[in-house]
Amino acid sequence: MENPLEWGDGGRGRRVVVIGGGVVGSLIAKSLQFDADLTFIDPKDYFEIPWASLRATVEPLFAERSLIHHKDYLANGRLIVSEVTNITNKEVLTADGHQVTYDYLVVATGHYDHLPVTRIDRLEEYQTENEKIKAAHSILIVGGGPTGVELAAEIAVDFPQKKVTLVHDGSRLLEFIDPKASDKTLEWLKTRMWK
Ligand SMILES: Cc1cc2nc3c(=O)[nH]c(=O)nc-3n(C[C@H](O)[C@H](O)[C@H](O)COP(=O)(O)OP(=O)(O)OC[C@H]3O[C@@H](n4cnc5c(N)ncnc54)[C@H](O)[C@@H]3O)c2cc1C
Repeated sequence: MENPLEWGDGGRGRRVVVIGGGVVGSLIAKSLQFDADLTFIDPKDYFEIPWASLRATVEPLFAERSLIHHKDYLANGRLIVSEVTNITNKEVLTADGHQVTYDYLVVATGHYDHLPVTRIDRLEEYQTENEKIKAAHSILIVGGGPTGVELAAEIAVDFPQKKVTLVHDGSRLLEFIDPKASDKTLEWLKTRMWK
């Protein structure tokens, strides 16, 4: 993998550095790429649609569409696949030794998961998780928040024969939403998981 990737004419405007290739950073980098001298820094060479991750866990082929190489939507600018380790008032420093000067800085680091660096390795990770689900007779999910509920539902839809147990210590599932929606969620799960 080339790092950094150079593409297009490099831009002639102000030096803009965007840190973080999640939803916010990727969208900003895509939008600014022809209007600035852009440097885009992310520890991964791909953007991942976060709300597709649980579907991708039960259906790895889905990840083919939800993992997008940064260079597939960026035609102009410079991509550095590395972690930012320090920021001064004029420069950004990366773990692989880049020192990038900026006029404008966008910090869109959201939260940091230790995800594989390459898209291909992330796809393999989904494949491995999926094989574990396929091989399991029963599956225990701890936590009845959005992730636990969604994962339980995704498994129940694709693997109706599996015994799925959801453990939750709250008074109801998805406590942050309206109780009626919470009840409906529980009813749906009961009909699919505890037939
Ligand atoms: C399973 C799941 C389902 C979700 N469903 C929804 C939904 O339905 N609707 C909704 O609105 N929201 C949903 N969300 C929340 C939504 O995904 C987040 O609000 C959104 O991802 C935040 O975007 P972000 O770009 O700020 O941060 P993130 O997506 O967290 O991206 C941060 C990026 O910064 C990079 N980064 C971190 N540290 C560094 C560093 N030091 N140097 C360089 N790069 C760094 C990371 O690698 C990452 O690429 C969901 C989240 C998950 C996990």
